[in-house]
Amino acid sequence: MATPEKISTNSDGSLNVPDCPIIPFIEGDGIGPDIWRATRAVIEAAVEKTYGGKRKISWLKLLVGEKGYEKTGDFLPDEALKTIEANVVAIKGPLTTPVGKGIRSLNVAIRQKLDLYACVRPVRYIETVPSPMKFPEMINMVVFRENTEDLYAGIEWASGSDEAEAVADFLKKEMGVDLPPLSGIGIKPISPANTKRLVASAILYALENGFPSVTLMHKGNIMKFTEGAFAQWGYQVAKERFADQTITEAELWDQYDGKAPEGKVVIKDRIADMLFQQVLLRPDEYGVIATPNLNGDYISDALAAQVGGLGMAPGANIGDTCAVFEATHGTAPKYTGMDKVNPGSLILSGAMMLDYMGWKEAGTAIRDAIQAAIKARRVTYDLARQIEGAEEVKCSEFGAVIVEQMG
Ligand code: NAP
Repeated sequence: MATPEKISTNSDGSLNVPDCPIIPFIEGDGIGPDIWRATRAVIEAAVEKTYGGKRKISWLKLLVGEKGYEKTGDFLPDEALKTIEANVVAIKGPLTTPVGKGIRSLNVAIRQKLDLYACVRPVRYIETVPSPMKFPEMINMVVFRENTEDLYAGIEWASGSDEAEAVADFLKKEMGVDLPPLSGIGIKPISPANTKRLVASAILYALENGFPSVTLMHKGNIMKFTEGAFAQWGYQVAKERFADQTITEAELWDQYDGKAPEGKVVIKDRIADMLFQQVLLRPDEYGVIATPNLNGDYISDALAAQVGGLGMAPGANIGDTCAVFEATHGTAPKYTGMDKVNPGSLILSGAMMLDYMGWKEAGTAIRDAIQAAIKARRVTYDLARQIEGAEEVKCSEFGAVIVEQMG
């Protein structure tokens, strides 16, 4: 067996993945250890069955979250962040947000410190999973949510604080803007550079994965210089970097009678509230969606609900130097240690990770096996309570059923 080696990044952004890559993992808090155990078993089986022992992952445990705090007195030790950066690809379970201990959210801190600017959330229907939609099989979208700025940058001041009063004073004196007394204040920065790198990564993903369109979701009719600018900069980067591979929706109708030429991705934009309607009414018209942070938070959970809920929604946070794949739900503390919850979100995130590493056959093996396990109706409590005739199995058993389905 090959010796464990680090993954590295080439100057064009592509990855060098050895046969035995070192992959750091964060188990997570609450239900994290349960879903991680099941996930690890499924990933290892998929890699083993797909590559017949030629490839194997060498896991490296990182102490982050409550375990990090117990051992090092730090919820997010610098060492862990450095290890993720050095190894390029990592995977994590959910982390508790420590209350009153200085960090707003560990998950947000990891994204910001590692500059993981794109939160990527694929949303696709898995047959038999109960969905509130009439035709859930029409849903195949991937949300690219900007991760580092917008209202989530954390620039805000409490009502009545010296800082809020100073900002209110400045706005009144210098800008002639009068705020209601005791306003809490938050700042919404959206920049051209951060918008363009996010939209460029969404366009690249659409091109590489055969999606027909990238939709810029924004609220620019109201917030012209932030959300409106997001859409303008999105169109700009499409012209600057992908002129031969993209057309706008206007060009689609003016020059091509509504039929996109082979190989071209259509760039369109939609006002956020309208897009919420359209993904319900005409989901097949949307593929990749690129959007600022707050919109992205809302639309990705809403889309996950359309295909059956957060328990099965995978996600990744991707930057130019590294990527962290993660369960999209939280730590569900009431189920800690019960071996009960659905590990599907982390398992599907593991499949995304394998795709990202270029081990696509193994990623596909996992998705096919999850589909087969659910069709066999041997599922965890959350799905069992909704699927008629289902047999409820534990978290670890669900992992075993998935492995069984790989043949
Ligand atoms: P949550 O942990 O996502 O749990 C809410 C509910 O969602 C659970 O009670 C359960 O519903 C269902 N659920 C979550 N994961 C599930 C799974 N794997 N299988 C089946 N059902 C699942 O949300 P929360 O209670 O608001 O947050 C708890 C902690 O997690 C907080 O500290 C929060 O900050 C943190 N959090 C972390 C992340 C992250 O690490 N990315 C994300 C969100 C929240 P039922 O009760 O109906 O069974």
